[in-house]
Amino acid sequence: MFYLTGKIALVTGGNGGIGLGMARGLAQAGALVVLAGRDAEKSRAAVDALRAEGLQADAIEADVTGEAQVAQLFEEHGRRHGRLHILVNNAGTTVRKLPQDMSLAEWNHVMDTNLTSAFLCCRAAHGWLKPEGGKVINIGSMMSIFGAPYAPSYGASKGGIVQFTRSIATAWAADRIQANAILPGWIDTELTQGARAQVPGLHERVLARTPAARWGQPADLAGTAVFLASAASDFVTGTAIPVDGGYSIA
Ligand code: NDP
Repeated sequence: MFYLTGKIALVTGGNGGIGLGMARGLAQAGALVVLAGRDAEKSRAAVDALRAEGLQADAIEADVTGEAQVAQLFEEHGRRHGRLHILVNNAGTTVRKLPQDMSLAEWNHVMDTNLTSAFLCCRAAHGWLKPEGGKVINIGSMMSIFGAPYAPSYGASKGGIVQFTRSIATAWAADRIQANAILPGWIDTELTQGARAQVPGLHERVLARTPAARWGQPADLAGTAVFLASAASDFVTGTAIPVDGGYSIA
């Protein structure tokens, strides 16, 4: 029930970090994974790496913050692959600033990348997912649960993605489309390498606060992604699953 053979998955931000970790897991379970990101060079390298491992992968260049670009992404996906079963809304970014110091442009950039992109991709994906039923996986964060002073827009976007997931889940349950969120803990990626460079002591604080006593790796997200993409989760919808080494319960 965990096999994804014959399934096609589109992963936004799938060319690096957590997105690539999940894409690799989906491909190892048998899916063809299509990576959507802005950096064509990075996407090509990710596709090459997956193919070198004997996995099925493709990439389409897209900025998922733009309505027209998202429409083009799904048109191109349809032209190349004709079907879609799994959508992973993973593209994300942050701007680390206190609320009083954040510009509207910075606020909007984070909201557009983390939350509006998921709406745009879901809306464009619905017609593709409906014929055979499908899966939506949205990526939240510990900031979907906790507050943090330097994450006003990031926290709002990640709180919003959980509620958006519930909305999609209820709207599309009758279409046999399940929508769930994954809430990663602290995972070692370019995003958090940037945060660690900016925030002295962050590395040690994460280690001390995480019961598993380690940073997560992108591969740690793969198992939950496969579960939520597969028939094993056909009666699971609207939930948000922390994958955090115990961070959220300690
Ligand atoms: P990375 O910075 O390593 O990866 C972010 C990915 O998003 C890149 O592949 C990037 O590709 C893509 N991306 C960013 N903006 C856009 C855009 N406008 N259009 C298309 N793609 C875009 O970050 P992570 O892997 O760490 O983060 C992935 C997700 O996980 C994010 O949603 C993040 O908020 C979330 N998360 C991460 C945690 C962590 O500890 N690392 C913890 C909790 C949540 P490209 O540059 O080619 O566009």
